Amino acid sequence: MSTEPTTGAHGTGHGFATRAIHAGQEPDPRTGAVNVPIFASSTFAQDGVGAMREGYEYARTGNPTRTALEECLAALEGGRFGRAFASGMAATDAALRSMLRPGDHLVIPDDAYGGTFRLIDKVFTQWGVTYTPVSVNDVDAVRAAIGPQTKVVWIETPTNPLLNIGDIAALAEITRETGTRLVVDNTFASPYLQQPLALGADVVLHSTTKYLGGHSDVVGGALVTDDEELDAGFAFLQNGAGAVPGPFDAYLTLRGAKTLAVRMEQHSTNAEAVVDLLTSHPGVSSVLYPGLPEHPGHEVAAGQMRRFGGMISVRLAGGREAALQLCNRTEIFTLAESLGGIESLIEHPGAMTHASTAGSALEVPEDLVRLSVGIETTADLVADLEQALS
Ligand SMILES: *Cc1c(COP(=O)(O)O)cnc(C)c1O
Repeated sequence: MSTEPTTGAHGTGHGFATRAIHAGQEPDPRTGAVNVPIFASSTFAQDGVGAMREGYEYARTGNPTRTALEECLAALEGGRFGRAFASGMAATDAALRSMLRPGDHLVIPDDAYGGTFRLIDKVFTQWGVTYTPVSVNDVDAVRAAIGPQTKVVWIETPTNPLLNIGDIAALAEITRETGTRLVVDNTFASPYLQQPLALGADVVLHSTTKYLGGHSDVVGGALVTDDEELDAGFAFLQNGAGAVPGPFDAYLTLRGAKTLAVRMEQHSTNAEAVVDLLTSHPGVSSVLYPGLPEHPGHEVAAGQMRRFGGMISVRLAGGREAALQLCNRTEIFTLAESLGGIESLIEHPGAMTHASTAGSALEVPEDLVRLSVGIETTADLVADLEQALS
């Protein structure tokens, strides 16, 4: 089960790509199938009352396909415990509910993912939880926002959609000193580019819908931690509230995760070529990409990320109109929400993914366009943006 440390031949002793392909994925002991079977079974026979064969009794509590995914995700983040959920938001909800009680306070990014902000602002506040939005790149502001009621500092890095960078090690130092917990939403970087637990974070969250799944064909989420007590809370809610992925979803996510290393390399390579075009284009007023030396978070990002990933945001000199026009004119970049898949996507955060932040402190600029650079032929992506901008 996923409560076991991921060590040994298929565990953390190996390189990243090896773990992605083997952790939690021993060939099936009965048939030798090299892929983990899709265990489409809601219940499991017991050999006597309470005598479960491998600990499985009912599939909300545990399913072998899901266990394989959980072990793999834990191994990729270098954590001992992984829990898979039906979506990134289900994982977010489980993390918040298990770590916060009425009267507690948390710190969130002032450009948090729209769904995260909506859940906290519209739901958790009704249960007496308060929050303070801060810039994740401002360590002093994070420290100042922590009060006696603060239990959690929740960050994304890079942030969605402004690509701000939080210094994970510096923030972990603050949460250690203040007795609070650091949760890092690692969706944008993926565990291939950045491993927050090794930098001192308590919990890593993923929308596996994005880079981990990687093919825009499944919605899922995950929590990984090294802390047994935190994991027990996540496991309790995973079973108790039941927002679990089915075995088909777990299989698709696991299948995607196997190629994460090669995909992230190509996402990063393609993004660098796209950034080259955008930084020299007169229609673009600024390019937000942590790989650029002039990006305010560049040095921190270079210290904590392997490469800079496939997400780019741009601000258009022509304002909202130009931003909408760019979104409508691309041919290979598909106009759609979401990110992290093999295909390139383009969107207008103000009108799409981040519409729920309108009028709040988290409102995004209306001249902003977000690109999720896929792994198509590099020159085709550059040419597509060039024609769309002209
Ligand atoms: C998409 C996303 C989420 C939410 O995940 P879902 O799988 O859509 O529920 C959370 N955080 C970030 C950074 C995301 O991009």
